[in-house]
This record gives sequence, C-alpha cells and structure tokens, in this order.
Amino acid sequence: MLTLKCLKCGTAANPREYVLKCPACGGTLVPTVERIRNLVRSDYAGVWSWRKYLMDSSSTVTLGEGNTPLIRSAGIGAAIGVADVFIKNESRNPTGTFLDRGSATLTSAALNFGVRKLAIASLGDLGISVASYGRRAKLKSLTYLPLSVAPSKAYQTLLLSDKVVFVSSYEEAVRRALRHESADVMPVTPQNPYLLEGYRTIYYEVFYALRKHPDFIVVPIGDGGLYTMLWVALNELGGDSVVVGVKGKRDSPLMKDIAVEKPLLWDLVEMAVRDCGGFIVEVDEEDIVEAARLLAKKEGMLAEPAGAAAIAALIKAHSKFDRKSSIVAIVTGAALTDTATLKALIGRSIELMDVQKIGFTKALILEILVTHGPLHAYALWKVIREYHGLRISLRALYQHMKELEDLGMVKVVAEEVVEGRRRKVYEVTEKGIKAIS
Ligand SMILES: [Zn+2]
Repeated sequence: MLTLKCLKCGTAANPREYVLKCPACGGTLVPTVERIRNLVRSDYAGVWSWRKYLMDSSSTVTLGEGNTPLIRSAGIGAAIGVADVFIKNESRNPTGTFLDRGSATLTSAALNFGVRKLAIASLGDLGISVASYGRRAKLKSLTYLPLSVAPSKAYQTLLLSDKVVFVSSYEEAVRRALRHESADVMPVTPQNPYLLEGYRTIYYEVFYALRKHPDFIVVPIGDGGLYTMLWVALNELGGDSVVVGVKGKRDSPLMKDIAVEKPLLWDLVEMAVRDCGGFIVEVDEEDIVEAARLLAKKEGMLAEPAGAAAIAALIKAHSKFDRKSSIVAIVTGAALTDTATLKALIGRSIELMDVQKIGFTKALILEILVTHGPLHAYALWKVIREYHGLRISLRALYQHMKELEDLGMVKVVAEEVVEGRRRKVYEVTEKGIKAIS
C-alpha cells in the first residue's frame, strides 16, 4: 500500500487524507510503497498500468501518458565509448514531458479529495502539463508564470489554463500558488506529493523492459522531483543503480526547466545522491544544443535542447562510465518544432539563438510594435499594462528596450517631446520580426 513519508523526520501521513506537506516538520512528503518483489503490470491505460503501486483512487485521469519507448542508442553509445546506452524517450508523453505522469496522478487525487481548482507555479512545462490534465478532469486551473518564460510555453499555457498570471520570478510564482491552499484549491508546486507520485512509474517501465537494474540512470534535476522519485522507485525495487543528475549552469529561456538555481527538493536530492553514490554534472547552453544536434543526427530524435540535457551530461562525463556499463538516459521535453532553434541546430545561423533567449515580455513588445507601428516606450508601457494586463515597471520596460536595441531587434527612428520630456520612438527591425515569426 502507498504511504506518504517524510524523509526528513520519518513521519508517515495517512494517504487517505488530503495532505500537502509533512504534518510534523513541514517537509516534502514522498509517496512510496514497501519493497516490490515482483513488479506487476496491469491493463489499465497510461500510468495506471502501475495502479497497484499508486494511490487507491476511484478516479483515474489519463491522456495516455507513460509507456514511453526505451530505445537502445548505438550512435550515442559509440560517441562515448559505452556499449549499452538506452534512451527513455519521455518527450513522447501527451504534452511532451515526464511531468504528464505526475499530472495524471495529481488530477486523480484532486478529484478523489473533492478539490475543484488547481493553483500552479510553473517555469514553463509544469503549467502546460497540469492545466492540460486539469481540462481533462474538469478542474479549474490558475497558473503563475515568470515573465522570463519562453513565448511558445506562455502561449500554450494561455490556451490551456483558465487563468494565467505573470509574475516577476519563479520564487514569486511558488509563493503565490501556495497562498491558495484550501479544501477547494490544491497548490501545485514541484513538492506536491500527488505530482511526485506519478514520476516513479518511469523507473518501473525501465526495470520492466530491461529485466535488470541499469548501472547508471542519467536524469535532469530541475527542481529535484524526478531525481528523487527515480531514486525512491529504485529503492522500492531493491536496485543499486547510480543516479546521475544534470543541472543547467545558467538560467536562460532555453535552459528554463533545468537551470533552477535553488531546486525546491534540493535536500532530498542531496540525500539521494549520498545514498546511491550519485553525482551531478553541470552543462551549459552549448552542451545542450550540441546534444540535441547529436540526438537528431545519430538517432533521428527531435528533442528540445533542454530535453537533451541527459545526453549532454553523458558526453561531458563520459570518462566516469566503464565501457561495459549499462546506462539509461532520460530525454524529456516537447519535440523540437521551434524554427529559430532548428535553424541554430543546423548551423545556418548561430545568431538566431538570440531569438530563443528573448522571453515572453520581449516577444510581446515586438508583437505590439509590429501591430501598432512605431511607438515610444511610455506608450508601449501603457499598451502592455492596459491591453495585455502585464504589470511591468516602466524601468523594466526601458531595460527590455535597451536589450532589444542591443540585439538589433528594434531601432530608434525618431525622438518626440511629450509633456516636456524627450522620448525615443522605437520601430521593430527585420530581425525583430523574424524573432517572433
Ligand atoms: Zn517531517
């Protein structure tokens, strides 16, 4: 039977009750079952084929997540000199990430506990996944997104979530989501136990397919939920694999979901790293772009650069793996469709990488300039606030304009005197138009 355990103080919470954190110390509750001696798969859809090890719930929400392919990769294996490299392709989930497994268990738990609304703190992918399952389960959703989110992710969230609120930082998004906690509203942060629950099924599938524990599992860290839960599942199955975590070095829209400065589950990751003899590999933007390129060229797989982070880590830390090791790398993230990133990957235009770096606010500024024609910053600021509901300061806008000018995406075409003050009038350049088309 599933229990919710606090790894910090050992308290076990009742899984039949709606709880979000440890009642004793406020720590993260980790869903887990007693030692699994004989892993049994059933015929239910999605992650529910592992229903025996999930929370006992009368509702099972699914969009067909899980059962993702585990593919032997001769190409990447040859590149790093290891015979047995497998890719667990989590980008094949309904919204393109492993998060869908957690969204399935989370929305089912919400229905089970009579929750009616979800308040989500997202860096980009989590909001898309949870809001999507929220639609399926007929639960309302409200998503907090940092302004720096990549435009394509902001648009998907706007389409799926009932309400989207843009905030200054991810930390702010987490704080705002947590404030909603009530019997009616479930806050969704990476520490939500009902979200974490579903992630374990990745490892069940790996073990079921290989019929053994791999020597290494390589996984992006993000907020630490996936790393922790793979380690939990590994322990449930009595495995001794080394779990290798991948961390993005610097924050940028391209690295958004992997370069979390202070992962919310860091204490658990540290505990897991110690327990399994794991280690952490840091990758930067060039590494992940190169890995996405290699994945496409060697294996015919299109993955977002952030999704290919585990491959980047394999290449970077190749000297740590024995030739005879068996390695499973988790690839996640939506299939690569963004034109600008694709162009950068084929090397046609390195400068187009700038396009991926502009974020939602700058993309919005460019869009307004395209539709309205040249405007001065103050007028732009008013349009952003009044028509787009973004509460951004004038100072922040000036900073964005300066950066867009440096990137060559806008240029000053005139200076106007408005109410006694000189104001620069900006026009979008061809490069700016390309950036949003
Ligand atoms: Zn505790």
